[in-house]
Amino acid sequence: MFDLDSLVRPNIRVMKPYSSARDEFQGEARVMLDANENSLGSTGPAQFNRYPDPQQHAVKRVLAELKGVEPTHIFLGNGSDEAIDLLVRLTCTPGQDSILLLPPTYGMYEVAANLNDVGIERVPLTADFQLSPDIVAQVLASKAKLVFLCSPNNPTGNLLHAAAIEEILVGFSGLVVVDEAYADFAAAPSWTTRLAEFPNLVVLQTFSKAWGLAGLRLGMAFAAPDIVRYLNKIKPPYNISEATQQHALTALHNAPHFEQLREQLLQGRHWLAARLPSLAIVEEVFPSDANFLLVRFRPDATAVYDYLLGQGIVVRNRTTQPGCVGTLRLTVGTPAENEHLLAALAAYQD
Ligand SMILES: *Cc1c(COP(=O)(O)O)cnc(C)c1O
Repeated sequence: MFDLDSLVRPNIRVMKPYSSARDEFQGEARVMLDANENSLGSTGPAQFNRYPDPQQHAVKRVLAELKGVEPTHIFLGNGSDEAIDLLVRLTCTPGQDSILLLPPTYGMYEVAANLNDVGIERVPLTADFQLSPDIVAQVLASKAKLVFLCSPNNPTGNLLHAAAIEEILVGFSGLVVVDEAYADFAAAPSWTTRLAEFPNLVVLQTFSKAWGLAGLRLGMAFAAPDIVRYLNKIKPPYNISEATQQHALTALHNAPHFEQLREQLLQGRHWLAARLPSLAIVEEVFPSDANFLLVRFRPDATAVYDYLLGQGIVVRNRTTQPGCVGTLRLTVGTPAENEHLLAALAAYQD
């Protein structure tokens, strides 16, 4: 039933991608005069006079081993936000096609659709931010070109029911993008382990959260090789800089530090989740599989938000998001930051 070629925009199907100097010649020559680079060297403290590997082979080789997939299943983007934009552009003809969102969810899907003049269909999650049989039925009935399922969901923190995601993967005619930006904090297997079963599955992950590399801008999409080939066809040729590729390789070889950061953030989440409910102004702490907690405050979340700002603590006010009235999203910080946040909230007088 799923047919990638009929899902891809006709102009993208037939277009010839840009062929860079590093696409046409790979490897080392003694004299490299094909790319109009500066053979003399670089300004600044480090050598970056050569264009980077457009296919990021070295990073993908290490990542493939870590994730238990083949390198041909990996696309790398300038943040997963680039992958989100490319997925919308790959499948949706401007002014004609639509994507499907399940609010409340991550804001970049909507921005990518608006930027590309692509329609947005919305099927809201349940009051406890879940998929239900009725929601799954509405998703399956949709003619949208792709659906974004954010799990663990931002800003709510919860994993979406795996059985419902599987029903969508089996029955939806478009691409199913499972955004796992927070998967490293979740007690569930990644959907990357199911790639072989679902030709329409795209899993997004990122170096911005558990890896602590938001400033680097490196995101991952895992999918069937034919989807990855299309994403590579339409990406900017050198979308991942040499600095980013080198830094990512170093980070990937430091798995113990990654584990340590992840453990500390999980401890911080448990610490906050155990203490926040006893505060009088806290109405509800939503269950989280991420590095943040969505918290409903009474009587006035925005007053709490403003008060925290006055204390030098900035959190995310989510009170205008669908289904999120009265909520603030609190990112887990260092132990000292978590204590500071809790003490400030405990001292709040309305
Ligand atoms: C933080 C986040 C991302 C990460 O985006 P990058 O561009 O990789 O920094 C992606 N999706 C969701 C849902 C997020 O919350």
